[in-house]
Amino acid sequence: MKILIKNGRLIDPANGRDGDYDLLIEKGKVQAVDRRGRISGSGVQNAKILDAQNSVVAPGFMDMHVHFREPGFEYKETLETGCQSAAAGGFTSVAVMPNTDPVNDNRSVTDYILKKARAQGIVNVYVIGAITRQSQGQKLTDMGELREAGVIAFSDDGRPVMNSELMRRAFEYSRMFGLPCIQHSEMLDLTRGGCMNEGRVSTELGLRGMPTEAEDIMIHRDIALLEKTGGRLHVAHISSAEAVELVRRAKERNLPVTAEAAPHHFVLTDNAVRGYDTNTKMNPPLRAQRDVDAVRQGLKDGTIDIIATDHAPHDPVDKQVEYDHACFGIVGLETALPLTLGLVRDGVLSLPQAIEKLTSRPAAIFHLEGGSLKEGKPADIVIFDPEAEYIIDVEQFRSKSKNSPFHGWNVRGKVMHTLVGGKMVYSAASKQTPGARNRT
Ligand SMILES: [Zn+2]
Repeated sequence: MKILIKNGRLIDPANGRDGDYDLLIEKGKVQAVDRRGRISGSGVQNAKILDAQNSVVAPGFMDMHVHFREPGFEYKETLETGCQSAAAGGFTSVAVMPNTDPVNDNRSVTDYILKKARAQGIVNVYVIGAITRQSQGQKLTDMGELREAGVIAFSDDGRPVMNSELMRRAFEYSRMFGLPCIQHSEMLDLTRGGCMNEGRVSTELGLRGMPTEAEDIMIHRDIALLEKTGGRLHVAHISSAEAVELVRRAKERNLPVTAEAAPHHFVLTDNAVRGYDTNTKMNPPLRAQRDVDAVRQGLKDGTIDIIATDHAPHDPVDKQVEYDHACFGIVGLETALPLTLGLVRDGVLSLPQAIEKLTSRPAAIFHLEGGSLKEGKPADIVIFDPEAEYIIDVEQFRSKSKNSPFHGWNVRGKVMHTLVGGKMVYSAASKQTPGARNRT
């Protein structure tokens, strides 16, 4: 089966391409990339034509921070619905965090997830193993066994590793295995009982705050540890201005630190909490304007390497409660593209830079295939119309959960097609497949 993608603007940061290129897919791989109209002759005979007019053709996006809730919380999301949601958002690869039930702290859970995800064959699923057993922060997991089982990184995400001695040893293994440790940076004694950012808004609303120092102190500690141990630190969902500055300074000293930001942290401030919508509750919380500005500046100057969604599906039962009782987290896969394109329109990033942070940068940091449209690579591709305007409707999400603060937003940037290994896994036109979703 051959597919010829024609008439699009191809942006492939890994290979320095941005312009009018056609792309031929054969046997699931990128067979040829050439200037518009140049791929012709017998090579394209019988090829299905995919017209990408008005659209950008890019490597499929890679989200290194998602929670798919399986095993254990399938009522919120399953591997299947999570992968469908990823495909609809233009993502062809995701990395799932280990806070399932059971926690992914051993080979059998890793095997289970990988086997199930592969059988479904929707998008590429990579697995992150826990740093400590049951992510309880008491004892390290068998990180060697997890690595053999195929994990691409270690994290207790959702929970920070509070014990510095354990974290130091985790970095030592990280160095030995060449795999990053991803930290959810939060000093718990500073945030206990908190449900939003600490500041003027939390005071006005009478909600208990979570100060930015909680994030900053742990990043400071981890950088201090890393300086001696070596290994790799990847800072998850960075959200505070000081944290961005800490990572910037660590990078200036050539320390092996990378960082990600989630769209909600560069789009929303804690002002959004004023309506007490529990879909504005996440961890780290939405911060003040100066923090949002710092995150955007960090993305711009390269301090923040990648964009990751922290896709965290929750059931209405977990969200339709009082603000301080609601679960933390929002779904993000199906809103990431238009929110990221907002950065392009605001002049924070160029379009190729934005795509790089969703493709080749994550691939490089986590040593993954993908993120490139070089000839011979798997045909993991997203085709999106950057100008298509629409209103976000959570009822249209393929995710099982609808907890998004962006419902009703008028946005621009729409995924038209997503292909994984040359196979079409999502098309905007065919979104309403019969029986795919129950509307209630
Ligand atoms: Zn987290």
